[in-house]
Amino acid sequence: MKEKRFKTRSEAGTLAMGERVAEMLLPAPKMIVLRGDLGAGKTTLVKGIAAALGAAEAEDVTSPTFTLVHEYVGPKVKLYHLDLYRLETERELLTLGLEEMAEEPDALVLVEWGEKFASVVARADGEISIEHVGGDKRLFLVRVGRG
Ligand code: ADP
Ligand code: MG
Repeated sequence: MKEKRFKTRSEAGTLAMGERVAEMLLPAPKMIVLRGDLGAGKTTLVKGIAAALGAAEAEDVTSPTFTLVHEYVGPKVKLYHLDLYRLETERELLTLGLEEMAEEPDALVLVEWGEKFASVVARADGEISIEHVGGDKRLFLVRVGRG
């Protein structure tokens, strides 16, 4: 299990940190749960990761709050960005096809609010938790791999 802590003091800091986090997510982990309150910085981190992977420009990555899933294709990975905040049942989750996404060969699936569903937590290869520690400061704990 790889574990790392990061701290940022601004939105720009979190975007830049996406590069270091992206390095921890390639090539092995497939599905990562992003935990943290509304406004913690989950989507901001995904923007940074997408940019680092060459899958999208940070400003083109928007929250999939209503669409539930956004897809970006980079040279090495197909990035799926999900937000399960509005999803209520395991049945809806099945319809979404999360499992199929994770089974694609070069997929990286980043799931905001994945901790709402036991099946997602059980399937996940790691977790990034974000804590709002006052002002623009954020603490990140990245845990990747099992064990
Ligand atoms: P979430 O997806 O967790 O709900 P967002 O990434 O959409 O959160 O929003 C985070 C908000 O907090 C943005 O408005 C961003 O500008 C602000 N912010 C302030 N400081 C930071 C920081 N250090 N890292 C990330 N976002 C920050
Ligand atoms: Mg979000």
